[in-house]
Amino acid sequence: MIQKTENIWFDGQLVPWDEARVHVLTHTLHYGVGVFEGIRSYKCKDGTSALFRLEEHVERLFNSARTVEMEIPFTEEAICQAIVDTLKANKMDQGYIRPLAFIGDGAMGVHPGENSIRVIIATWPWGTYLGEDALQSGIRVRTSSFTRHHVNVMMTKAKVAGNYVNSVLAKREAKADGYDEALMLDVDGYVSEATGENIFLVKHGKLKTPPLGSILGGITRDSIITMARDMGYEVTEQRFTRDELYMADEAFFCGTAAEVTPIREVDRRTIGQGKAGPNTLLFQSEYFKIVRGENMKYAEWLYDYEI
Ligand code: PMP
Repeated sequence: MIQKTENIWFDGQLVPWDEARVHVLTHTLHYGVGVFEGIRSYKCKDGTSALFRLEEHVERLFNSARTVEMEIPFTEEAICQAIVDTLKANKMDQGYIRPLAFIGDGAMGVHPGENSIRVIIATWPWGTYLGEDALQSGIRVRTSSFTRHHVNVMMTKAKVAGNYVNSVLAKREAKADGYDEALMLDVDGYVSEATGENIFLVKHGKLKTPPLGSILGGITRDSIITMARDMGYEVTEQRFTRDELYMADEAFFCGTAAEVTPIREVDRRTIGQGKAGPNTLLFQSEYFKIVRGENMKYAEWLYDYEI
């Protein structure tokens, strides 16, 4: 169960959590055209707090909206400020932030007509996303029977609510079969991404990740690419197959919620030593240093705030 906080920002105002309600004929509820983000804020060692790459997340929210022809009635700056206001109202010096823009009620049928675009921002505490000891021990993954979206079926680079039906189906299947997460292949059979994470493999000390084809352009993915290259690693954005993944020395998922989660098994094949690999653990610890303001080289990725 999600841990309730006091307030939700709704169309420009903070309202009590239980009063953030909508009508059952809300268009997005029926047809899935809504855009959202997942952002984390972290408490830093010096006692301050910082949102990780806030502006990039808000920019992606607006790009997602543009892609599905929704006009968000606020500026990007106003949404950034509203996120900080919501964290402050909820007295949260760290946690997860979920902005969502959706089409309200009014017209029905797939054409949303002039229905208003509404925006909420919810914040709540959220621990490790893929299981208690996922970050240390790594997770077990299965290739899904569900294919990731074709790029002309869904707008895969937009974070659109309806896209996630595919993720929910794959996740449920994986969990029911005793796995922690699903890996999806693209329509050509190449590795794409997981239900809410991007994927990297490590082979002979080099990193590989699928290119921006059918995948969501993850902000964590971008951070890992930048950070790994700065550390001297070779990183290629190139398609690979599931059997290349089976033969990898290490593999990991990354995302705002999942952070850097090692993969220890795929389709019953052990990856590397069957535990979190040394390079993966290094990226994980560097990532945590960056988000917690302990590596000032990446200070520009941090959006400081005080509660
Ligand atoms: N792929 C999908 C399908 C996702 O939902 C997410 C989470 N937003 C990601 C990748 C990772 O993106 P990010 O690093 O920006 O959170």
